[in-house]
Amino acid sequence: MNDKSMISGYTELVGLMAYPIRHSNSPAMQNEAFRRAGIDCVQLAFEVDNSTLKDAVQGIRALKLRGSNVSMPNKTVVGQYLDKLSPEAELIGSVNTIVNDNGILTGYCTDGIGYMASLNDKGIDIRGKKITVVGAGGAATAIQIQAALDGVAEISIFNVKDKFFEVGEETVCKINSKTSCRAAIYDLADHEALRREIADSFLLANATGLGMKPYEGITWLPDISYLRPELIVTDTVYAPRMTKFLEMAKEAGCRYMNGHGMMLFQGAAAFKLWTGREMDIEHMKEWLGGIMENG
Ligand code: NAD
Repeated sequence: MNDKSMISGYTELVGLMAYPIRHSNSPAMQNEAFRRAGIDCVQLAFEVDNSTLKDAVQGIRALKLRGSNVSMPNKTVVGQYLDKLSPEAELIGSVNTIVNDNGILTGYCTDGIGYMASLNDKGIDIRGKKITVVGAGGAATAIQIQAALDGVAEISIFNVKDKFFEVGEETVCKINSKTSCRAAIYDLADHEALRREIADSFLLANATGLGMKPYEGITWLPDISYLRPELIVTDTVYAPRMTKFLEMAKEAGCRYMNGHGMMLFQGAAAFKLWTGREMDIEHMKEWLGGIMENG
């Protein structure tokens, strides 16, 4: 189907269940990908929070949806209503994609897969290397666990001493007990440790919300002396395209990447799970208006 005005009785549906959700780029992106591939499927966003999540998941079965994306506040809660979890969703403790195979619902987490694929797309291989990731929330945990599962040798995690610090400590335990990767967590206020850990890292990632609204123009990085030109710098934030953090990376001569790649490739992984087909990545990059700022 090449025209959404041609929705028929055969058109399949995937959902996106979150609250708030109307601002999301995902339906526009998935619908463009379905259109491009000539697949008779649409994605619609549904305002679902924890209070209606169980019924909404039952609705996937009842209405025979092909599946759904899931975002906050449902990612860490929805697993209990599903029949199966993929290994990464189980370990991360979060689901962003549900696939309905004849009434059997399986939960996957494609956020970390998307991050790793976005690096791979740029020829960046972090397997066997040390990385430093700042953040311990949803995006950070997905990146850290997937990186460990995919063969990264060492991960240093930094976070402020808020409620997410404990999540980071749990992630360290999971990585050290369930994978061959070595992980450690530090207080982001410990600048000596931050400088030391960044100094021998291959890649430095921001996975906090600093840089996007309401924190535009702000970063936790004290100054550019923490960076060196060989360091690869990534940001999960994609709006704005250029964060304060990435501006500092640019100034230091680093190769850097914003969160568009992660967003695109987590969507591409979900698309593949629902359709069995590869998303047309080059077309979607153009549609998104480019990904890597200086790659
Ligand atoms: P979250 O709420 O789960 O985690 C927030 C993180 O930010 C925590 O580690 C928290 O400690 C940290 N933080 C909050 N305030 C801080 C401060 N003042 N100083 C330092 N750290 C602070 O959020 P999330 O879902 O993990 O999202 C984090 C960022 O990643 C957001 O900008 C989000 O848009 C982005 N994200 C991008 C993608 C993508 O596909 N590119 C996917 C998911 C999330």
